[in-house]
Amino acid sequence: MKKWIIVGILLVLCSLLLATPVSAQAQTEQPYRVSLRRDFGYGAGMDIQGNMTLSLKGDESAVKRVTFLLDGEELFSKESAPFTFSFTTDDYPSGVHQLSARVETTDGQTFTTDALTYNFLSRQAASQSTRGIILPLLGLTVGIALISWLLQYLTSRKKPNSGAAVSYNGFYGGAVCPKCSRPFARSFFGMNLVVGRLERCPHCGKWVMSRRASLAELEAAAEAERASAQTEETPVEPRSELKEMLDDSRYYSPDDR
Ligand SMILES: [Zn+2]
Repeated sequence: MKKWIIVGILLVLCSLLLATPVSAQAQTEQPYRVSLRRDFGYGAGMDIQGNMTLSLKGDESAVKRVTFLLDGEELFSKESAPFTFSFTTDDYPSGVHQLSARVETTDGQTFTTDALTYNFLSRQAASQSTRGIILPLLGLTVGIALISWLLQYLTSRKKPNSGAAVSYNGFYGGAVCPKCSRPFARSFFGMNLVVGRLERCPHCGKWVMSRRASLAELEAAAEAERASAQTEETPVEPRSELKEMLDDSRYYSPDDR
């Protein structure tokens, strides 16, 4: 249970780090505003790095000219839709910048949108921040591996030893346990390691490095298991309750009433 809690916390942390909307909406009564979209690169809160597209939001049909501004200075001017401007943050000095637009409408009015504030990161700073995201993700992966291990441990403990009825058609096929030489189906929960698949044998309960066995090997192992089971005991067939009732009912006929 403790591991679930740890994984839960990791999940929440990761989603917080990954969910970083770039376009912050400025609260405004103005008819026009700008929004920033990250096309490729890094973005976390105010920090951005990479390829971005700045676009104008509002009634485009009334626009005569849009001038996109960086810190109040002209970046790019456009007189036809789409009113967007794509750029890479690396072309500008790193640090905090204000992005906005000046809109001239066909009826002669001029609006200046509220500014979006972003911190342009250098490529180096962005990759350092990215590492800050990847490390927790790595931790999450390890956590999931531990959980799947735990699940396999729990499920394999509950399973009864019914070797003969095991199907080996699964994705991972079957394996013959090197410890007790009985066949088992390789489970989904095993851990793939370079040298093989670490799994818990459902028969002897030992952790073994399993290797996919051929059908012939599996059949031979199953045959050996059946042979040893037969010499151990021949179970007496229990008389079923249903059969007893059917037998008894034979002595009743409708006329007995
Ligand atoms: Zn075994």
